[in-house]
Amino acid sequence: MTESRTVRAARGSTLTARNWQSEAALRMLHNNLDPEVAERPEDLVVYGGTGKAARDWASFDAISGHLTELEDDETLLVQSGKPVGLLRTHEWAPRVLIANANLVPDWASWEEFRRLEALGLTMYGQMTAGSWIYIGTQGILQGTYETFAAVADKRFGGSLAGTLTLTAGLGGMGGAQPLAVTMNGGVALVVECDAARARRRLDTGYLDRLATDLDDAVRRVDQARRARQALSVGVLGNAAEVVPELLRRGVEVDIVTDQTSAHDPLAYLPAGVDVAEWAGYARAKPEEFTERARESMAAHVAGMVGFLDGGAEVFDYGNSLRGEARLGGFERAFAYPGFVPAYLRPLFCEGKGPFRWVALSGDPADIAATDRAVLELFGDQPGLARWIAMAGERVAFQGLPARICWLGYGERHRAGLRFNEMIASGELSAPVAIGRDHLDCGSVASPYRETECMADGSDAIADWPLLNALVNSASGASWVSLHHGGGVGMGRSIHAGQVCVADGSELAARKLERVLSNDPGMGVIRHCDAGYERAERTAAERDVRIPMRGD
Ligand code: NAD
Repeated sequence: MTESRTVRAARGSTLTARNWQSEAALRMLHNNLDPEVAERPEDLVVYGGTGKAARDWASFDAISGHLTELEDDETLLVQSGKPVGLLRTHEWAPRVLIANANLVPDWASWEEFRRLEALGLTMYGQMTAGSWIYIGTQGILQGTYETFAAVADKRFGGSLAGTLTLTAGLGGMGGAQPLAVTMNGGVALVVECDAARARRRLDTGYLDRLATDLDDAVRRVDQARRARQALSVGVLGNAAEVVPELLRRGVEVDIVTDQTSAHDPLAYLPAGVDVAEWAGYARAKPEEFTERARESMAAHVAGMVGFLDGGAEVFDYGNSLRGEARLGGFERAFAYPGFVPAYLRPLFCEGKGPFRWVALSGDPADIAATDRAVLELFGDQPGLARWIAMAGERVAFQGLPARICWLGYGERHRAGLRFNEMIASGELSAPVAIGRDHLDCGSVASPYRETECMADGSDAIADWPLLNALVNSASGASWVSLHHGGGVGMGRSIHAGQVCVADGSELAARKLERVLSNDPGMGVIRHCDAGYERAERTAAERDVRIPMRGD
């Protein structure tokens, strides 16, 4: 199915579809596959191992064609990346409804998924790949920046200056790690096995240096750490070998995490396997490859636990590495926590999460104007103000210009309405697509990640993402998606996404007001239901109505 064609979203304020909602979906689908954005556009792979935007090129063409023709009372159904139905609905209904990679729980394994995928029946959508709201590495950069800022607050007096973070993986998501660490003032050493991935991060300014070998890397990071200088250094190697080796050498590491594609054992390179042999070997002998990958992950995590035992701050960064390492035979894999219970859950209790928007004009000036608007609205939050300023200076746009920042319940709809006004008044040159990651406060059930260690033990309850998708469909979102397996792999997560479009119209304002309230509202409701006091406070202060509470 590999095909060498170049896809790029249309720019400007002229419609190629019949309305801005379909136009936005079309531009965002195309943008996901822009070579500046996607990791392997020729295979329709956007990020996250094999997260795809459409099942195959024929489906991509058919979806594009239907979006161009879609009326504003019609809805396109997309089943795992393939268009399967066109329905008459109404103007408040989503223009596109998407379900990706969903399997009945007893069948929800990678083996069964791959069997069905080989038959051409399904597709892995990751989170924002199959729901057409991936914005390149910036999306994760902000979340990673927040996470490292929380680490700094918890352990290092509010800054990472003078600390060394050891991690691995410089892919679509993982590539954000070095810049997020340096933005927090720290030093990062990142292990990556694929030279092309490392060079890409160097070229886009996310990584400062690529070391010639491990000795060179250790020398550079040691120096920077001692001088309290922010610096990121990549080193080529296999994390399953390099992490234990650094432990053996007694290198002083303060923080350890990982963002290789461990959620899919075929996307984690086993020690002793050459990058050039990777794809062929995984295809030819998936079971043997999986076994070797899991053994390697066990060695990798054993190294991380060694650093934990030595007093380092160690956390799982949402890729299932601990689960796979345990399957690989390492009993203490869960000795360290996931990043959500460790740092992010209090934010989820306030309905906070990764709010993002994309200038469909393609004009960076539109994002600069929205940055100013966000600062006017929320500039009194120091972390947010610092992020928007740094992002404006240091984030290179990939594909259509976009911005992300974390906003909570009661905030997101204000931003959406402000953008809508700016479009109506001509301050922005074209409409804006407003969406989010599925990694959000009320849209995901993922017991190894977003819902790890819930206060009431409800980690695996998956009614919440289903309700979230229904709520967004009922509230006026432009497209809504329901996926399985994102982030942590098959059988381990169910999650939903939404995108709504600000086009300056009165109708868009009414939809934005509802969607951007009800969607984060689900986060407050979900965490209230689990018994979090902070969520209860948010609900009381911001008037989120919850039955059977306090009466
Ligand atoms: P990716 O596939 O684009 O990149 C993974 C990188 O890991 C690749 O560059 C690969 O070469 C490298 N790698 C694989 N095995 C290795 C090994 N043994 N040693 C060194 N490098 C190795 O994936 P991505 O988009 O960067 O995502 C990384 C992981 O993070 C995935 O598991 C994804 O599901 C998860 N994820 C986390 C979050 C979060 O918020 N924390 C969000 C989304 C996804």
